[in-house]
Parts: sequence; C-alpha cells; structure tokens
Amino acid sequence: MYRQGKVVFLSHCILNQNSVVKPLARAKGGYNKIIEEIIKRDIGIYQIMCPENKYLGLHRLPKTKQEYDNKDYRKVCKDIACEVVADIEKYTNNSNKVLGIIGISESPTCSYNKNKGILFEEIFYLLKEKCISIPILNVPTDYLEEKQNEKFIDKLIDFLDNKTTDINIEIK
Ligand code: SF4
Repeated sequence: MYRQGKVVFLSHCILNQNSVVKPLARAKGGYNKIIEEIIKRDIGIYQIMCPENKYLGLHRLPKTKQEYDNKDYRKVCKDIACEVVADIEKYTNNSNKVLGIIGISESPTCSYNKNKGILFEEIFYLLKEKCISIPILNVPTDYLEEKQNEKFIDKLIDFLDNKTTDINIEIK
C-alpha cells in the first residue's frame, strides 16, 4: 500500500564513485545531488552492476571503448544488459513505471551519446528488439559533486517528473 511504483535505473557509479577508475572519481561517495532529487520524490533506485569493475576490478587503468571491445567484455556487458532489460520488463509488467535509465556521458561502457558505451549499446539492442521505449539521460562529463551542476539538475528534475524534452531519447 505504501508503494508509489516508480523506479529509475542508474549506472552503478552514480551511487558509488568507489567503483570508478581512481583518478576519474567526481565525488567522495555518490552523486548526492542526483540521489537527493530521486529520494525526495520517493522514487525507487535500481543500481545497475558496474561491468568494468566486474571485468577488471577496482585497480583497473582507464581504457577506451576500442580497448574494451573484445568478446569477453561484450559477454560481461550482454549478460548484465539481459538482466537489466528483464528487470525493466518485470517492473513494468507489475504496475510499476520505469522512469528511465541514467548513464554516464563519454564512458566507454555506460554512455548513451552518439558514441554509445558497450553496456548501453547492448541494453539498446535488447530494448529495441522488445520494442520498449524508455528515456535515457547522461550525467555530463563536467558534473562534479562539489559544483552546483544547476543546468544538469534542471534536466534531471524534468526527467524524474516526466517532462523530458531534448533528453528524452526514444528507442524505436
Ligand atoms: S563502467 Fe559504468 S558504472 Fe562502472 S565506473 Fe564506468 S561508468 Fe560507472
């Protein structure tokens, strides 16, 4: 009876910057400003597994998409993508609204820019195959927990309140 039935899917490191390649961390713990906006609205959080951490561990060095893009890493990402998309379906089929997915701009794994990261590419293929349309938002490369990040937070609020415009990437 208490459930609002709204869920947002987040790249793992939005909640846990300890999973990021060391010099690239942008917050002490998580992206609190993003998390606060979600919590304020009583939206449930689904934390997607970090594929890079699963594949190479916490002491990995930065790599490009091309360097990651091999058969083994694709398999890691495909397996995670299958779980994520199955869970999106599960929530949706049980009267929940999945508000969308938030990824990380320019990540070789979790970005949803023109040049998609490997995990998000795999998620995209599966959603497309199943004709599921869902908004996707990227945390920009200049997001820093200690900054105001006003522009992005405004976009995030629109995204969470279902008022997305330019950031509403329809998957068809
Ligand atoms: S692979 Fe994704 S979740 Fe993991 S650190 Fe990179 S952007 Fe974050």
